[in-house]
Amino acid sequence: MEILYNSTRSKGNPVKASQAILKGLADDGGLFVPDHIPALDKSLEELSHMSYGQVAYEVMKLYLTDFTEEELKNCIAKAYDSKFDTEVIAPLVEADGAYYLELFHGATIAFKDMALSILPHLLTTSAKKNQIRNEIVILTATSGDTGKAALAGFADVEGTRIVVFYPKNGVSPIQEKQMVTQKGDNTYVVGIHGNFDDAQTGVKQIFGDKELAAYMNEKGFQFSSANSINIGRLVPQIVYYVYAYVKLLEEDKVQSGEKINVVVPTGNFGNILAAFYAKQMGLPIDKLICASNENKVLFDFFTSGTYDRNREFVLTSSPSMDILISSNLERLIYRIAGNDPVKNQDMMNALKTAGKYSITEEMKSELSDFYGNYASEEETAQTIHELYDKTGYVIDTHTAVASCVYKKYKKDTGDERTAVIASTASPYKFTRSVMNAIDSKYDHMGDFELVDKLSEISGTAVPKAIEEIRTAPVLHDHVCEKSEMKQTVMDFLGI
Ligand SMILES: *Cc1c(COP(=O)(O)O)cnc(C)c1O
Repeated sequence: MEILYNSTRSKGNPVKASQAILKGLADDGGLFVPDHIPALDKSLEELSHMSYGQVAYEVMKLYLTDFTEEELKNCIAKAYDSKFDTEVIAPLVEADGAYYLELFHGATIAFKDMALSILPHLLTTSAKKNQIRNEIVILTATSGDTGKAALAGFADVEGTRIVVFYPKNGVSPIQEKQMVTQKGDNTYVVGIHGNFDDAQTGVKQIFGDKELAAYMNEKGFQFSSANSINIGRLVPQIVYYVYAYVKLLEEDKVQSGEKINVVVPTGNFGNILAAFYAKQMGLPIDKLICASNENKVLFDFFTSGTYDRNREFVLTSSPSMDILISSNLERLIYRIAGNDPVKNQDMMNALKTAGKYSITEEMKSELSDFYGNYASEEETAQTIHELYDKTGYVIDTHTAVASCVYKKYKKDTGDERTAVIASTASPYKFTRSVMNAIDSKYDHMGDFELVDKLSEISGTAVPKAIEEIRTAPVLHDHVCEKSEMKQTVMDFLGI
């Protein structure tokens, strides 16, 4: 059955999947949502014998209904190939009674690769299907990982350019090095004086600028988004939850139909929303455990029913989750408001003007699938330390937030059912925080010395993504004020 995509902020004008991918954001500033969530049309047993790419096809075909089989299979084949350092793409590792779903085996060793290795192909295919002749300009705000993953995905993809804004002092040294060494004539990386929310707000303003859009069109350009609000990011992320479940099934770790819990370290709410969609499709998931760091807006939201961004922004050791406005939450709000764009719009307006909104009791009762909690900086470090001591397995800071919250969940509820923890980054991406958590005696070491030490103590090979930046030259050194973002983009395009 064909799926069309509606805006979360107004009725009418539903668009096809390819059009939603091209636009990124709806014209009214809303997010695109499927008009219904499709059910899996293969049994879990059938899926359990499939490769990652095959599962990806079975899931994505249900959402991207205007793509032909050939088009979609082509996109999948180009995305999930030898850019990943393991054929299974997303391995499950058991440690201390939970399954870590390693989503960091792609080009930039963070989970963003899972979606951003396929998005450029979905986008260029969508452009062809819609007879678009303009060059597509990808505009992205990043808290660290999206930026590099998007750059790697789009570098030298014909018919596209990409501009990435990141908070100059808000990403890890390795994250920054990864971005500023990016090759590709169509790439542009800019640090801004501000935090991630400033970068994201600036990008949203540029997207909403109708005059600029008309001018760009005249010059042969149009914007699209690689941020996690793009439906072309969300849909590929549903795949690995299905894949994880069916692999547990194949290995007899769960019985068919047995529900599992899923734990997700959360920032923009994209990854956990994908797990929620997987559940709606019929995947046996019980609780969706939403893990926050000290920027615990979501924990407060799940406990109080009030989303309130008026608070101090904390820089933590899990920078990709240092977010006070979780954009993808809007899709959940829209849904629990009974797919009512007016109600959703009211709340989003309140968020914009007052920085907060409250949901009704009725809406709150629809959130029983979710459990929220958070980990302090100290708890996060302690979690890395303890897991390493106990098992020798090293996790990164984001994954540690999830692991810690999972422990709190078990203590709160006594629920011991099988759990999958989304492991969203390689420990090599946040080496200093990880090594400091294991032992403070490593503190004096240089960044790459730490990398080698991590390899030694964990018995794992240094990922290619890290080897590459050891010696790579810096190719981008642009910095701007948050008020200068639009001009910066126009300068890059030469218009
Ligand atoms: C982006 C990111 C997250 C947060 O994911 P969301 O989809 O924004 O909730 C968590 N961990 C890492 C390593 C990330 O890069």
